Amino acid sequence: MPQKTVAASETGDSLLLTPGPLTTSKTVKQAMVHDWGSRDAAFIKIDQSVLSELVHIIHGGDEFVTVPMQGSGTFAVEAMLTTFIPKSGKVLLLVNGAYGQRAKKICEIAGRGVAMHETAEDKLPDLAAVEKMLKDDAAITHVFSVHCETTSGILNPIEEIGALTKRYGKSFLIDAMSAFGAIMLDSRKVTFDAVAASSNKCIEGVPGLGFVLARKSVLEKTKGNATTLVLDLHDQWANFGKTGQYRFTPPIHVIVAFHQALQEFNAEGGVAGRGKRYSDNCRILIDGMRELGFEPLLPDRLQAPIIVTFHMPADPNFVFQTFYDKLKDRGYVIYPGKLTVADSFRIGCIGRLYAEHMRGALGAIADILGEMKVASPKPAKAA
Ligand SMILES: *Cc1c(COP(=O)(O)O)cnc(C)c1O
Repeated sequence: MPQKTVAASETGDSLLLTPGPLTTSKTVKQAMVHDWGSRDAAFIKIDQSVLSELVHIIHGGDEFVTVPMQGSGTFAVEAMLTTFIPKSGKVLLLVNGAYGQRAKKICEIAGRGVAMHETAEDKLPDLAAVEKMLKDDAAITHVFSVHCETTSGILNPIEEIGALTKRYGKSFLIDAMSAFGAIMLDSRKVTFDAVAASSNKCIEGVPGLGFVLARKSVLEKTKGNATTLVLDLHDQWANFGKTGQYRFTPPIHVIVAFHQALQEFNAEGGVAGRGKRYSDNCRILIDGMRELGFEPLLPDRLQAPIIVTFHMPADPNFVFQTFYDKLKDRGYVIYPGKLTVADSFRIGCIGRLYAEHMRGALGAIADILGEMKVASPKPAKAA
């Protein structure tokens, strides 16, 4: 039998073909081997550089400001929704996956008015229906959408939704978490008031910092909206204005690593460069998996180059847990599905992964299908 090869990151860890946290570079991790005080001038300088770099990514100029929020990405989404939507507001949520559902839960807990336009996880929002809702329901003040809905990997039409929202004079809020830094979101082309993302997705930092890029003229008017002390973006921002400091302990090491990650992001050519590497990863993955007989959930035109959902094979010899464990043994970590429309699993293309890693994963998958005696990984019925 041929020797099993085990793939590894630069630091010898398994490769994370997941929606996050992701494989990061060695230099990003190495940036964390120091201590800084939160009032240390060196740290404050690094933090300010991170916050202004993030504004550049959306071409936000002087109109936008980054408000960081300690915690994972959801902390930033909850902070955005509860700070921007006032108690008297009502948000139209465009939902086609678990992250849209999460936004609904956040709004309900916070007691915000909610209207829903929900489509299946493999379907785009119906913009004519959205327009009708905007026309018919004058109480709607905000519209929320997820850029890449990581549940399936679908790319939502953020520019069209932005144009519609603008036409009806509503405030547009975006969860761009898994797309930010890999798929262009240009504030000069898409009109929005806030976008939430985090340190540990396409910028390839470590987890621990969420952030919201906020339109200053709108953020200024959100005082008193927040439902919690911690997730109050207005207060966090106002405090930066007054003291240059976080209100509560910042994740210093995460921020310093994020600073290094942003330098590596810029060195790769920013959104264009990073987006190209991920698109190449995604193409190799989908072509290779199709060749093996797997079927992706989404047609290519709906697929974002972030994470790919595959239908579960019908062959009874294909046991997902065994498949997962065998891939992990070879150094590749994949992700279970989260769909309600179909039994599935997911493979990510983001993080410090290159073409050779995707090819390595495909080789391992081919071997494992042989070991499991799976004749064909076709799903039960054609997608
Ligand atoms: C990852 C992700 C989040 C945030 O998830 P956390 O686990 O809180 O980091 C939010 N929205 C989308 C679309 C995501 O992909």
